[in-house]
This record gives sequence, structure tokens and C-alpha cells, in this order.
Amino acid sequence: MSRRSKRKRQRFIVIIVALLLILFLLIFKTINGNTKNNPDTSTTLPNDNKEPIEEVKDNEIKEIKISPDIYTASTGETIDLSNFKIEAVYKSGKTEEINENISFITNGNILKNENDKIIVSDNALTADSGILSISYEGVTSDITIKIFNTLQDNINEEGMVTNESAYDMVVNKSRNLSSSYVPEDLVPLDGIPTTLQNPEVNQLRKVAYEALKELFLKAKEEKSFELYARSGYRSYNTQADLYNSYVSNHGQEAADKFSAKPGQSEHQTGLAMDITCEAMNFLLDDTFFDTEEGKWVAENAHRFGFIIRYPKGKEDITGYQYEPWHLRYVGETIATEIYENQLTLEEYFEQ
Ligand SMILES: [Zn+2]
Repeated sequence: MSRRSKRKRQRFIVIIVALLLILFLLIFKTINGNTKNNPDTSTTLPNDNKEPIEEVKDNEIKEIKISPDIYTASTGETIDLSNFKIEAVYKSGKTEEINENISFITNGNILKNENDKIIVSDNALTADSGILSISYEGVTSDITIKIFNTLQDNINEEGMVTNESAYDMVVNKSRNLSSSYVPEDLVPLDGIPTTLQNPEVNQLRKVAYEALKELFLKAKEEKSFELYARSGYRSYNTQADLYNSYVSNHGQEAADKFSAKPGQSEHQTGLAMDITCEAMNFLLDDTFFDTEEGKWVAENAHRFGFIIRYPKGKEDITGYQYEPWHLRYVGETIATEIYENQLTLEEYFEQ
């Protein structure tokens, strides 16, 4: 081979090698560039002009789901969190039941936290409610605790009522008050027209007194009716004297239809009041309902927290004849439900 052709061949090899090198570099650059443009398709779009998609954090909690979210408890009950199914709902859509690291806050006066136990206050009444807040990892949800006591919750084996001072307590022919029970907050009926001289019966518990005063005031304002209080609080002994005199005059069977035995009278609670008006000659009988005053009272007493305790047609349930004049304070919530559904107090608690 000539020297000339040898050089030619060497130059050809150099060119080929150089071309291969350039080609290799180009391929490498292309692959590398593509990879750089798409480092993570889940976070950035291939086109740089578009906004980045928000990152989905699978482990972030969206809400705490609790079932049931309304729970009925009775006065004094200890509420166990195991009564509830508590779930964390994550932003990813995943749901997980949680049993640990749950904290709670009791709001208001109805629920208390006693040594990390959730307790319904002894002062809670049926129709009260409280909010229990449940937290897990900083996310909170609420449970509504509704208070409802059955009649059986508040009576002992001897037939004695165990919630004597509760505004929603029930006394009747099978539920007795103790002979020593005297309400602690009796007040005289200042500013209310009365018909009897005995100062004992011209008393009510404070809340019932204020409600009655308001009822009498509104009767006057709205209808110019003049209502009178006749008989409110009666002690155990006063009721015993009254009952015994009825028995001697009418016999026990008759007396039991219109008078309570001592310990079974609503008047001992300080929450009951017999009312009358001039058209009734300030006396009590069932013609009170035929008076304009009596009709207005029947339709409006609930607005002030009172019920007609012994309604017509419910004698078998209450054990007493119809008494349109006998008002019993139970608070506006219960009174309104009883009025709207035409219930007796006994029926209300047995719903
Ligand atoms: Zn009465």
C-alpha cells in the first residue's frame, strides 16, 4: 500500500470516529434532556407554561366521622366512647377506624369531665342537651348529647322518686315524694293576685313563680284577663290534713279521684299552681275551661313552661279527673312538646 492511500485510510477512520462521537453525544443529550423535562409526571405538567398540580397528601385527615352523632343519655350517666364508631377520613378518600389517641372536650354545664370520664351532670333535665367535641390529630368533630330520662330512671324500689328537685320530675299515684321533702327555693308570690290567706300556699319555687308572673302579665297585656293564684305549694302535712278531711267527708274512693294522698301531690313540689278568675267566683272546677280565661290558659300556658297536668280524656293515665285549673311547671321545651302532641307528662316520658 502506498503511503498516500495509507494516510487516506487513517483520515477516514478519524472522521468515522469523530462522527460516531458526535452521534453518541447527540443521543445522550436527547435522552438526558427528555428526562429533565419530565422529572415527575405526578407533580409537574410536561409543558412548563402550566401551573403545577397541588400535591396530594394521602396522610392528611379531612374530617373525623362519628356515628351516631346524636346520642341520648340520662342524668348522671357515664358516657363511654366505645359507644361510638370514630373514623378518620383522609384526603385521599381512605377511611380508617380509630380507637387510640382520641381526646375530648365537654362543653357547657350538662356534660362534665371527671377524671377523664364523660359524665352527664346530676342537674341535667330531660330535653337538655350538650356538645361533646372529639379530637384526633388536631381535627375535631362534635357529638350532640341529648338528655332523656325514662320514668324508671328516677324511682327506687320503694316507689320513692329519686329526683325530687328536678323541674321535670314526675309524682303521681305510684311515684312518691318523701315526707321530709321541702323545695329549697320557695318564694312568696309577690306581684301576683292571690285568693287565700294561708302564706304557705302562696309560694312557688322561684323559676315557677317567675314563669307564672309572666303568664299572668301576658294574659293581662294581650287579653286584659285578670288571673288569680289560688293554691301553690303545700307541705306534706298540709296535704295529709286536706286528704284526711276529704276522706271523712266523701269517703276514700271519691277522695282519691280529686285529691292526692300525702307524698303524691304535685303541690308538694312547689312547681304546681291552681289558678282561677272572677268569672269562677275565685273557685276551682272544670267549668274554668268554659271561661275565656280558661281557654286562653289552655292554649298559651306552654309558652311560659306550664302544662295542664290533668287533661280531659287522660284520666286513666294520670289517675285524676280533668283539672283545667291545675298548672304544672316543666320548662318551655317539655311544655311545648306536650302541648303540641297533646300528651300527659307520663306519656311524654314513655315515648
Ligand atoms: Zn292542683
